[in-house]
Amino acid sequence: MSQNSPDRLPASLPALVDAAIVGGGPAGCSAASWLTQLGLSVALIERAPRLCDSLRPLEYRQDWLLGAPGESLAELGERYAAHVAAQSGVHALTDQTIHHLDWQAEQGWTLYFDGGPAFAVNAPDAADAPGARDAAGLRPLRARALLLATGLTPRHPAPLYPASDRHGRVLDAVELTAVRDRLPPGKVLLLGGGDNAVENALYLAGRGHAVTLWSRSEWRAQSHLVQQLDSLPGLRRRPAQALPTAVTASAEGVIVTSKAHGEEAFDHVAVLLGYEPEPSAWLKVADALQRAGVTAPSQPFRDEPRFGVLGLFVAGDASGRQHPCVQTALGDGVVAAKQIEAFLRPLRESQPPPALRRNNRQVIHINGLRFGANLGVLDFEREGPQPIQVDAEVNLGAQTIVSRDADIGHVLDYRRVRAIIIDECTAEHTDLLEALLGKLSVRLMKLPGVVGVRIKVTKLEIFPDCQVAISAECGTW
Ligand SMILES: Cc1cc2nc3c(=O)[nH]c(=O)nc-3n(C[C@H](O)[C@H](O)[C@H](O)COP(=O)(O)OP(=O)(O)OC[C@H]3O[C@@H](n4cnc5c(N)ncnc54)[C@H](O)[C@@H]3O)c2cc1C
Repeated sequence: MSQNSPDRLPASLPALVDAAIVGGGPAGCSAASWLTQLGLSVALIERAPRLCDSLRPLEYRQDWLLGAPGESLAELGERYAAHVAAQSGVHALTDQTIHHLDWQAEQGWTLYFDGGPAFAVNAPDAADAPGARDAAGLRPLRARALLLATGLTPRHPAPLYPASDRHGRVLDAVELTAVRDRLPPGKVLLLGGGDNAVENALYLAGRGHAVTLWSRSEWRAQSHLVQQLDSLPGLRRRPAQALPTAVTASAEGVIVTSKAHGEEAFDHVAVLLGYEPEPSAWLKVADALQRAGVTAPSQPFRDEPRFGVLGLFVAGDASGRQHPCVQTALGDGVVAAKQIEAFLRPLRESQPPPALRRNNRQVIHINGLRFGANLGVLDFEREGPQPIQVDAEVNLGAQTIVSRDADIGHVLDYRRVRAIIIDECTAEHTDLLEALLGKLSVRLMKLPGVVGVRIKVTKLEIFPDCQVAISAECGTW
């Protein structure tokens, strides 16, 4: 769980954004950039300490990159990250993970972050609102649309990549890429027959390692890479052979057991058997949808309309594209941004800008309400009702601006306010005007949504030459 210090989170982060993007790789950054161009606000959530962190170890030249041959993905990633970080509509939350999610048809998505109390420090507006935190004290961020751009993760088949006893001698594709320049020369076993395995075999053999390349099928790598294997006769090749049954690592080395070769010792083993969609965020999405009674997509899920109507989108490697690479991820981000904009357009068109969605205060005024009340200590006042006038203001506080007719049940009915005033003034005799004001104030303040009351009661005929009134104010104004 990441524990964020408050200053790592932007103070300007609003409580509601148009789109939350989970995953700050090329796909997420591309989508964020396009969404801001389309006038939408974005929270870009990345669990690594920086955007495009997945590209940092990839330092080899991308000579096929149109218009930018010779650039490495590490260099490109730095530029993508700097570009997105400079865009004012993007709130980049790095080193940040989601604790859980909620989905409601009307509200969209609510994200609860790990390290919630620190997160709350930077959002005083929402943190102070009633119900703004869940039971665990986590402060939510609401988003109308959610984009998963969480990429892939290397496959870790249990007998070949033991989860326990990690010594850094059994590596996956990401781990191998990070250390392959620094591996001391030795015996290396590469399990896999695709581009990644063959390319690493060529690279490591070229650096003086004794490489064994072992694939359960015939080579699936591009033919020009496979042909290069022929130029390295010292490189042992085992195509179309059943994979080892056990890999046991220790500080001294790795013992690999197989039916065909018995027990063999290697210095390092790399398990290069492909990738699967990163499940962490998707599992939370599936859980949120399940709780809402909606069938969740299985992984990898594509940008199908049935998920689009939920405000749920996917981009980049996470979507199981045929050719996962940086260029397709960037393009995917653009497509996802356009889909999100189309999904949000009806909402945006029917709603005024945020500043006009709520007024500052809404007040019910009851002016000049006249009737006979049982009021006063004078003898003639006790004989029967006397005419009074009540003027009242009932403060409902800031309200959502209603531009269309809605159900009366959603607002405080002013007929109810009028009836309460008459009832309170006529139900029984009250000696003091002040007491009547008090009773009226208490009764009106108890009405749902009322935050303040102003009352003025006027005795209309107490004197032949003047009227007498007392007013009172309570609550918030
Ligand atoms: C070893 C290796 C070599 C490669 N070589 C090349 C190459 O030469 N050329 C090329 O074009 N492509 C290459 N690729 C592929 C390329 O890196 C990917 O296709 C590309 O990065 C996909 O972008 P993405 O945004 O979809 O996913 P990613 O780049 O994987 O980004 C996903 C992001 O989501 C974040 N994330 C995941 N889960 C969560 C969560 N729960 N909460 C918050 N954040 C989360 C991750 O930290 C990550 O930053 C290579 C990949 C690998 C592994």
